Amino acid sequence: MIGLVIVSHSAHLAEGVVELAREMAGAEVRIAAAGGLDLPGQPLGTDAALIAHAIESVYSDDGVLVLMDLGSAILSTEFALDLITAEQRARVLLCGAPLIEGALAAAVQARMGSALADVAAEAQLALGPKNAQLTLKAIPTGSAVAEIAAPNNSDIHTIQLTVTNKFGLHARPAARLVQLAGHFQSTLSVRDVSSGRGPANVKSINGVAMLGARQGHTLVITADGHDAVEALAAIQQLAAANFGDDDSPSVFVPAAAPTKTPPHAALLDSGTLQGLAASPGIVLSVARQFRLPQPLIPNTLNTNPEAEWQQLLGALDQTRTQIEAVLAQVSRQTDPHTAEIFEAHRLFLTDDALREPAWRAIVDQHLNAAAAWKQSTDRLAAEYHTLDDDYLRARAADVEAIGRQVILNVLGETGLTPTLDAPGILIVTDLTPADTARLDTTRVLGIATADGSSTSHSAILARAAGIPAVVGLGQSILQIKDGTMLIVDGDSGQVIVTPNNTTHSEYKRRADQQQAAQSAAHAESALPAVTTDGHTVLVAANIGSAADAKKAVSIGAEGVGLFRTEFLFLGQQNAPTEDEQYAAYYAAAMALAGRPLVIRTLDVGGDKPLPYIDLGDEANPFLGVRAIRLCLAQPELFKTQLRAILRAAADVESHSEIQVMYPMIAMIDEFRAANKLLAEARQELRQRGLIIPNRISTGIMVEIPAAALLAEQFAAEVDFFSIGTNDLTQYTMAAERGNPRLATLTDAFQPAVLRLIAHVVEAAHAQGKWVSVCGELAGEPLAVPLLIGLGVDELSMNAVAIPRAKQIIRKLNQVELVEPMRAVLNQQTPFAVRSKMADYN
Ligand code: PEP
Ligand code: MG
Repeated sequence: MIGLVIVSHSAHLAEGVVELAREMAGAEVRIAAAGGLDLPGQPLGTDAALIAHAIESVYSDDGVLVLMDLGSAILSTEFALDLITAEQRARVLLCGAPLIEGALAAAVQARMGSALADVAAEAQLALGPKNAQLTLKAIPTGSAVAEIAAPNNSDIHTIQLTVTNKFGLHARPAARLVQLAGHFQSTLSVRDVSSGRGPANVKSINGVAMLGARQGHTLVITADGHDAVEALAAIQQLAAANFGDDDSPSVFVPAAAPTKTPPHAALLDSGTLQGLAASPGIVLSVARQFRLPQPLIPNTLNTNPEAEWQQLLGALDQTRTQIEAVLAQVSRQTDPHTAEIFEAHRLFLTDDALREPAWRAIVDQHLNAAAAWKQSTDRLAAEYHTLDDDYLRARAADVEAIGRQVILNVLGETGLTPTLDAPGILIVTDLTPADTARLDTTRVLGIATADGSSTSHSAILARAAGIPAVVGLGQSILQIKDGTMLIVDGDSGQVIVTPNNTTHSEYKRRADQQQAAQSAAHAESALPAVTTDGHTVLVAANIGSAADAKKAVSIGAEGVGLFRTEFLFLGQQNAPTEDEQYAAYYAAAMALAGRPLVIRTLDVGGDKPLPYIDLGDEANPFLGVRAIRLCLAQPELFKTQLRAILRAAADVESHSEIQVMYPMIAMIDEFRAANKLLAEARQELRQRGLIIPNRISTGIMVEIPAAALLAEQFAAEVDFFSIGTNDLTQYTMAAERGNPRLATLTDAFQPAVLRLIAHVVEAAHAQGKWVSVCGELAGEPLAVPLLIGLGVDELSMNAVAIPRAKQIIRKLNQVELVEPMRAVLNQQTPFAVRSKMADYN
């Protein structure tokens, strides 16, 4: 083994390095310190005699490597060589490696028995890893962050932090990190020093996700740019907040949380496949294999790379819109964490890890847009496949699905959605969100997929559509022949292939039980919704046409609490005439056969512009000339509608009661002005010789917090209130209702919204006024006991929700709910509210 000598101006430093080297490489290492001067009172300096002595002490025929600090240390060492024999001198090598790092690397290498030259070479490289890891200077930080310095560029900063959240940087926290990074202009890179993975671009979802950083791993994040300090401070804050993960148990349990999570499905016993429970319910039917056809990618080369790139960008944009539409659809039906997974998927579309290779393939290889994107996504998916982390391997399916969706958009193909020729259980490798959203639910009775996870798009949408589903069953499911009898148990995550008679009967009994519960709700839907203590709740429907009214009555609607009349105005070149409107209102009232009809006056503007009305440019249309504001600004348009309503009301008077409801009321003056125009409309009809009753009930929608807060004032003048929780939530939380990224804020279970509802009910009832809730909240099973407990008189909802809502109401005791539901208002989050409400369903 070669010997090592450490020469330093400081004896302490030399001894310290020796100590470190022994600690690192073992006590057997032949190493000697030659630091300081051998003179009392002069601690710093170098001494040739001491160095020569140290060389001799570790000398062998293998040679000696000498590491020095600087300046006179080198001179003294060179002089020391004159003090040893020529034979020794021939085997001594002076090494320019950094003293500490070089000594440690050399000690390890020497201990391995390497030759003198190899040990010297290794010592010389000792700064490499250090430079790669920490080139740079640190920002002032809190205790969780280690400071790492090397200030040769003042715009470059580095922090080190520890991943503390339970599941590490999986898709959701990774997406949060990437989104945060996107707010800064600095270049940001991250290395997982615990696994050695990286560096990765912090603005790339794939880059960050592929690090596979787990709990306890140390990350080094480097920022280069004018806002580097701010970027790192923000990232540090996110890390301190557990990357946004709440690891406390059961904050929110999705309705169909998976019961098992095997990484790969396995054949449990003959005929039973175990996968992941994705959507509850049991279904017995025949297998219908469907292999997603891969789009046929043309092999033509492009002649205009720029045009090809633009085509790809267009398809990426189209895919983003499709994902956002699905996101908007699911975010109301699921927890915000699941919505964040969609967020992560959306980030794939803008990820340079996918875009750059595609761009290069278009420019360098002249591939067409579809082929370039395919090449890029295939490569990334292949990388995910090689990882040793189950979760990360599963992301390959996401990349492939998004790859396929973009390619379909490039090719302008829409016809590749899985469809079945006859009813049965759809067996498929996996489904994209767009595929799932377009499934024909009359034929797809159940879903069994080879890939996918319980949080995949397909699973969430299957839940929303009420189709039992098991996912992640592995390739075996794809081997099953068409027409084979299957049982899909979406509760346990099992698929039973060709069940024997006993199993078949048992599952049939359970499926029938589930079906019976559903049918019971439908069968009883015509009965009134009376609580066990005799309190009657009016359960009504929200409609957009007379046809809707008819359908609603057939499944138990006791009236219409909201006729969205804007559907008569949208999608055409001119406003409907008074006669056309009259016909629509009359037909709806007649379809209700004596049940009450609340007609909401025109609610356009905001997200519902009319091509034939110039609203001017508005920076914030939701805060603009919308609904009643527009009607008051366009009295002729408004009075035409009011005349149509009054005529219909007069003509159906003996059958049905029509009431008028004004949307988006914020001030009592608006209500008064609307009523004034109503009186004028009545007068105009009388002048035509028509007999119009003197009185028609008029109420307001409570959609703006101002109206809720002043409910006492309104109660003195209005006939009824109807709370539009969709807009009330939007305006209370200052969160646009269509923005999928604000799903938590736009959740009507927000305690602030619930308190406004409670306040309206209290103020209205104090003056004997009726309160309905007609926003989406009214039809949510978890919200029904809450609203009943708060004293709401009427729930008006999407008609399909009526049977279940009525069934729930019949099991409630209204009086007993009052106290506990008031207590629910003290909860702090929508999730806490939901958890409380889970006890009442
Ligand atoms: C509401 O805002 O809750 C409501 C019912 O009205 P719309 O959804 O039509 O705006
Ligand atoms: Mg509204």
